[in-house]
Amino acid sequence: MAGLRFLKLRRAAIAAAQQLGPLGINQGNSGNVSLRAGDGLLITPTGMPYDALTPGQIVWMDLDGRCEGDWLPSSEWRFHCDILRERPDLNAIVHTHAVHATALACHGRGIPPFHYMVAAGGGRDIRCAPYATYGTAELSANAVRALEGRRACLLANHGLIACGCTLNEALALAVEVETLSAMYIKALQLGPPVELDDAEMETVLEKFSTYGQNPGRER
Ligand code: 13P
Ligand code: ZN
Repeated sequence: MAGLRFLKLRRAAIAAAQQLGPLGINQGNSGNVSLRAGDGLLITPTGMPYDALTPGQIVWMDLDGRCEGDWLPSSEWRFHCDILRERPDLNAIVHTHAVHATALACHGRGIPPFHYMVAAGGGRDIRCAPYATYGTAELSANAVRALEGRRACLLANHGLIACGCTLNEALALAVEVETLSAMYIKALQLGPPVELDDAEMETVLEKFSTYGQNPGRER
């Protein structure tokens, strides 16, 4: 393993991929994980069980999709490269086939502002990107568009994408999107839920910019 570039980051990618199942946001070999490394990215290999992944099987590629090493990258390398190239504010991407998010996406529906936590995705709603075949440039373009001003989106008839500054942020957002999807589906069973207006979502987004522990802050 000596000489392997980005060993710590490779291990972080494996740890994140291995959490997808236990977090309840993925099944089997579906989904993939990437994070920025140098002037490219590290990405999980295509079609491999996460349990047995080793650091050497995580693929480094540049942002134009040129790979290093013998292992084939995730079939979704295009949207991982395109998102990280278009979005310097993001460093990590998680893609999964979470059940409730995917159920909504199979109706081509995103998540409207029915709950204030929808703002965790970076805006007033979480969009659903139109369907395109997995692994295609068309799917990537649709995803990049659905992520404008956002850190998460659904993919029609497919799953979800969640991004972050770190892998932990991307994982946490993927869990949040799946939870919101389950809540939204449940709320819909009682009829159309009340939606928060744009002004309220703006207020929440503003509050989120300073949310959390911030030692020394004014009260
Ligand atoms: P990979 O195994 O190629 O990463 O594909 C899984 C997937 O979710 C495709 O959309
Ligand atoms: Zn997928």
